[in-house]
Amino acid sequence: QMPQVKGRVEFKNVGFAYDVEEGNKILDNISFEFGPGSTVALVGPTGAGKSTVINLLSRFYDVQEGEVLIDGINLKDVTLNSIRRQMGVMLQDTFLFSGTVMSNIKYARPEATDEEAIQAAKTVCAHDFIINLKDGYDTEINERGTRLSIGERQLISFARALLADPRILILDEATSSIDTRTELALQNGLQRLLKGRTSFIIAHRLSTIKNADCIMYIDKGSIVERGTHEEL
Ligand code: ATP
Ligand code: MG
Repeated sequence: QMPQVKGRVEFKNVGFAYDVEEGNKILDNISFEFGPGSTVALVGPTGAGKSTVINLLSRFYDVQEGEVLIDGINLKDVTLNSIRRQMGVMLQDTFLFSGTVMSNIKYARPEATDEEAIQAAKTVCAHDFIINLKDGYDTEINERGTRLSIGERQLISFARALLADPRILILDEATSSIDTRTELALQNGLQRLLKGRTSFIIAHRLSTIKNADCIMYIDKGSIVERGTHEEL
């Protein structure tokens, strides 16, 4: 088990290959440490290893070299469940399931009240688009049916994450083009969601990169540069 964490995240000399036999190292000697509440943007070319860093942090895979620690606890020493309870993971192809918008927001905290869910949606700027849907919060979403844009899906995932209230957030920002209004909602909603959490964002938006406490530029499995937007 892992106790309620504060959110200090540390990689110590992490090395990783998806295929150990083949020996093609995807990450090599990655080290960093961020205190609770830090916003970290991961940038770099395609195939650089950004998603792999996130896969290791959420222990989707185990590291082969070095250590991944949260509040000083090695992820290898605790159960997967107890790790995932501390983390909100929002990937590009946001996972929505068949059901209403409301039940999708409550996904990680089904016992929450409607009021709490709506408050969360308001905080992350998702409320306005939701109330304009055919049936508002009762609108049925199915994997193919109701056509929500990628940006709208990401807004719902923000509301879901805020309601779940994890100490650590992982976000793979959508790359596809997003209309200006949704874009603004995403920018503002994200900044509110990040408050008080340690977050790792594979960042595509300039606004996200500018607001980050640290940008890590990853190339060919190594951190080649790190600093704030002004510094880099
Ligand atoms: P992108 O910007 O395109 O998302 P990325 O920086 O996230 O790129 P990764 O997905 O971390 O890059 O991939 C790093 C390397 O690992 C690539 O060479 C990729 O082909 C390889 N890779 C990624 N996932 C797997 C996997 N599940 N099995 C084997 N190899 C993988
Ligand atoms: Mg990726």
